[in-house]
Amino acid sequence: MKVGVLAIQGAFAAHVAVLESLGVAAVEVRRPEHLDGLDGLVLPGGESTTLSMGLERSGLTGGVRAFVTSGAPVLGTCAGAILLAVECLDGRSDQVQLAALDVVARRNAFGRQVDSFETDLDVPRLGQLGLGDGPFHGVFIRAPALERVGPSVEVLAAHDGTPVAVASGRVVATTFHPELTADPRLHELVLGR
Ligand code: GLN
Repeated sequence: MKVGVLAIQGAFAAHVAVLESLGVAAVEVRRPEHLDGLDGLVLPGGESTTLSMGLERSGLTGGVRAFVTSGAPVLGTCAGAILLAVECLDGRSDQVQLAALDVVARRNAFGRQVDSFETDLDVPRLGQLGLGDGPFHGVFIRAPALERVGPSVEVLAAHDGTPVAVASGRVVATTFHPELTADPRLHELVLGR
């Protein structure tokens, strides 16, 4: 199995490490040809405005959009979740929206004082899939909020009533950073392993 990690900016190296720990071949995606033959794609956290400009500059927008809307396994974390949304609030007006998930994301939604925090999350699907019971430790770094979640989107986890992990088909988005904890279960969930 070969899974790409968008490697324009942000926390891509940690995703590569998680994938490799699962025995998956990880490909750093910087140019359109790097998308060839991938079985899945990870859009990492970082700065969605910068990622967006990088997608445009590297000619990747069309190919990445086609991939994330193709039904293939996709994981978007934090800024990656913002890119997957249909709409972004408090972003740049020209920010790329890949529209793979019917959600509206608001950037930096948790305010300045508590803009980074960690908390244990209940993700019932992990236990249901036999990936292991027990909470998933969520690391939130200037996280977005998912303010509107459409009927095609399932909430996998919430924090204080706000969705923080959602799925639609094989596309999964988290507003936290699952690659920063030594817990590969969400990557496994996305890859169907
Ligand atoms: N605040 C960032 C953005 O708006 C996301 C932060 C992150 O990915 N950790 O793109």
